[in-house]
Amino acid sequence: MDRHSEVQQLKGVGPEAEKDLERLGISTIEDLWFHIPFRYENIEIRPIEDIEHNEQATISGEMIGEARVRRYSKAKNILTFRLDSGGHAIEVTAFNRAFLKGKLSPGMTITVTGKWNRSRAQVTAKHIEIGERQERTPYDPIYQLTGKLTNRQLKTWIADLSRNREVFPLEMLPFSIREKYKLPSIEETLRQLHQPQDAEQLKHARRRFIYEEFLTFQLRMHAYKHALRKSEYLEGLQDDQERVSTFIQGLPFTLTGAQERSLQEILFDMRSGHRMNRLLQGDVGSGKTAVAAIAMYAAVTAGKQAALMVPTEILAGQHYEAFKEMFADDPVNVSVLTGSTKAAERRDIIEQLENKEVDLIIGTHALIQPDVPIPKLGLVVTDEQHRFGVKQRRALKEKGDPDVLFMTATPIPRTLAITAYGDMDVSRIDELPTGRKAVETYWVNMSLFERVVNFIKREIQNKRQVYFVCPLIEESEQLDVQNAIDLHAQLQAILSGDRVGLLHGRLHNDEKREVMEQFTSQNLDVLVATTVIEVGVNVPNATCMVIYDADRFGLAQLHQLRGRVGRGHNQSYCILLANPSSETGKERMRIMTETTDGFVLAEEDLKLRGPGELLGKKQSGMPKFRLADPVHDYRALETARQDAKSLFESSSFWEDPEYEALRTDLVTSGALSEDKLD
Ligand code: ADP
Ligand code: MG
Repeated sequence: MDRHSEVQQLKGVGPEAEKDLERLGISTIEDLWFHIPFRYENIEIRPIEDIEHNEQATISGEMIGEARVRRYSKAKNILTFRLDSGGHAIEVTAFNRAFLKGKLSPGMTITVTGKWNRSRAQVTAKHIEIGERQERTPYDPIYQLTGKLTNRQLKTWIADLSRNREVFPLEMLPFSIREKYKLPSIEETLRQLHQPQDAEQLKHARRRFIYEEFLTFQLRMHAYKHALRKSEYLEGLQDDQERVSTFIQGLPFTLTGAQERSLQEILFDMRSGHRMNRLLQGDVGSGKTAVAAIAMYAAVTAGKQAALMVPTEILAGQHYEAFKEMFADDPVNVSVLTGSTKAAERRDIIEQLENKEVDLIIGTHALIQPDVPIPKLGLVVTDEQHRFGVKQRRALKEKGDPDVLFMTATPIPRTLAITAYGDMDVSRIDELPTGRKAVETYWVNMSLFERVVNFIKREIQNKRQVYFVCPLIEESEQLDVQNAIDLHAQLQAILSGDRVGLLHGRLHNDEKREVMEQFTSQNLDVLVATTVIEVGVNVPNATCMVIYDADRFGLAQLHQLRGRVGRGHNQSYCILLANPSSETGKERMRIMTETTDGFVLAEEDLKLRGPGELLGKKQSGMPKFRLADPVHDYRALETARQDAKSLFESSSFWEDPEYEALRTDLVTSGALSEDKLD
């Protein structure tokens, strides 16, 4: 067995586990190694004084007196006993552990893990360990899971793997770099990330992993840019500028200054002899799509075809409707193609694309597959997360090397955007259309749920619509869905039942579209949803967004969610239902109520998350890193960027054996063709 072996060769990985692992993108041993825990539970024993009320903690002490059991039924019982923990008498309660009673006796050392109730000096224990503590890592890794996979299984498989040095991934970083920054080896790094021994070592392991992710990313960017520069001089777009201005004048609104500026930057790129590779950044509702539509129109007037790629079928449908309307007076033929387009229709569309009858095609990622011919492709616009990997860029090149415009609502500060999107030019829409009212945001305690319901009843009476976003359970999509189903049932009972819709990730695409259509056409008053609505849905009549357990979401995500309302002329509201237990959670809620400016929020996020927090939240719109976060780890990103640059320009990088792994990565990732290495 080595790093390339399939996971099913591992003991205990059966066909079912194999499928679940596959859904997490894990098919080889190496993939499993790179499935890094997304957080750790601190199971270090701590003194009572240091533990916050309601916090999960591990406490140790000597047992005082006898344990007692109360029985409620055959299966239900409560075990209680008392501990002396560093001079504090505390009570331990555990459900259905009657069987432990016989093993407990006064004077024993006991370690328990559970929720600490400070006012009652009591722990509700999830784990009870009798005797001195077992040898155990101080941090318990928590993995992203799916299906029937358990955290325990992942830990066992990793433990099995870590006994065999042959199965570790290749060391990418040369010794000279590791020494310069005091970074551990890849083997040591992965051991720490999966089985951390202490906070300090874990920190270094994370540091190394993040640096490596950034360095390889930046090297690929360089290689790619290098290849771009080499490409032959191209003919610029020859659009019909008069038709373009007439089109802009025909829009039902005047462009904001920022939209106008961005549009000029885009058109300049398109008309130049270089391929455009531009990022259009702006808050939700700032009018990115409108700008993109004009750019696509310009491409069409030059006899080209344009494609708009969006992350979901729902969005594809919405954009299709909006674009049809926008181009109603023009001879622009718009079509939509997604995974659920019927076979016959798909054939038609493909034929029309081939004959250049379709000018503007909207769809999901499927659009750039090889079997979809777009012979005159001049411009590709992609919405939100769809940043192309280098391989997809290759595919695009084969489709005629179009100009590319990425749109993102992720409000990262300008300097960061330039670093993170190292290969792109950036246009920024930092101004909302006039007349748009800021969304009023309130932070409300959960106990006031009824008042919130009364509030939304009023909105509904005024013929407005409401989103209800469910709590986020990161460990399990299953629980997310269950939450949504429960909340949906609850709201159906309180409100008019058939006017409350439900949207979650487990629904079929047809069902999702159906629900969205119902909501858009105002046949539904309320839409209960998991975070699937995060991406780009546009229903201007929706004026209220209620976010359940809002403190579980990061600021960036809350901002995205809030952007779903405030899109029409009516005053809109965002209600954050939350009883945050941490100071950071409270601070987040406060900031959300104080500002609606995405860039301010991004800066605050940067501050709040500060160093040392073991949370690797993925930023949407960013290239996918496993651990690294361009916002949080911006210093490492900057270091890696400079290192990549000087490596790339040095001769030793291209010659020394110690850089071989990094060179090979450039080829396997597709950033560099093999012959460039000779
Ligand atoms: P984004 O893609 O940035 O989320 P959109 O382009 O979808 O924003 O614009 C959001 C809404 O605002 C749409 O209904 C759009 O028609 C409208 N809109 C766009 N630009 C303007 C403008 N300059 N003035 C008024 N309304 C605008
Ligand atoms: Mg949009």
